[in-house]
Amino acid sequence: MGRCRYLQFPYLSDNYGVLVHDEQTGKTAAIDAGDDAAYLAALSEAGLTLDEIWITHHHWDHTDGLAALKQATGALVRGPAETKDYIAEHIDVGYQDGGSFDFAGQTVSVIATPGHTLDMVNFFLTADKVLFSGDSLFVLGCGRLFEGDGPMMWESLQKLRALPPETVIYGSHEYSLANAKFALSVDPQNEALVIRAAEIEAKRAKDEPTVPSLLSEELATNPFLRPDDVGIRQHLGMRDATDTAVFTQIRALKDSF
Ligand code: ZN
Ligand code: FE
Repeated sequence: MGRCRYLQFPYLSDNYGVLVHDEQTGKTAAIDAGDDAAYLAALSEAGLTLDEIWITHHHWDHTDGLAALKQATGALVRGPAETKDYIAEHIDVGYQDGGSFDFAGQTVSVIATPGHTLDMVNFFLTADKVLFSGDSLFVLGCGRLFEGDGPMMWESLQKLRALPPETVIYGSHEYSLANAKFALSVDPQNEALVIRAAEIEAKRAKDEPTVPSLLSEELATNPFLRPDDVGIRQHLGMRDATDTAVFTQIRALKDSF
């Protein structure tokens, strides 16, 4: 169906914000609010007024501008039901895993994906098949485990892995170049990954964004979605380990890469 427009813009050193706009109703939502000036500039450049803010997690690079952006626009703030102090007082509607709401006639499913933080929620626009994965799933990567552990993050990523493969994934950071280098170190025989890494390098050399991507691409090349892959297991010497153990090992290797 593809009803909304998605306007992605960079802020801070490697963050992406997105404005979701529905032409028919004129409604606009922002993903996160890390820098109110950058969000307000993106809104005015596009000639849009903000109706809603969808917060993925409490980290400052996603929330520092929340109070100011809410104040300036009067937007309704949706986010995790359980979170930390600063953002809790600004969230108008809190969601648990499996929650949902209507945005401009389209159902948005809220998927809790704890691991990077305990409060992480992702937003899935069910008609457009667009996912805002916060700092849980990136191009060729996944979030660092600040508050959760490997088993928790793997359980979270399995929820995202089960979405339709044609799902468009907007992660919150441009980490693709570093992620590609790491991915190649654990999955060097993966032809699709070799090709994708070269494409990412070419895009970054021209300062072009590599976000969003398709879930199908991540399923084929993102090692954090592929702990069941025979080649990766062989490379790690973990042929008979559980998916959880392989995932946890891949995450640990990335931390020291
Ligand atoms: Zn974060
Ligand atoms: Fe972040």
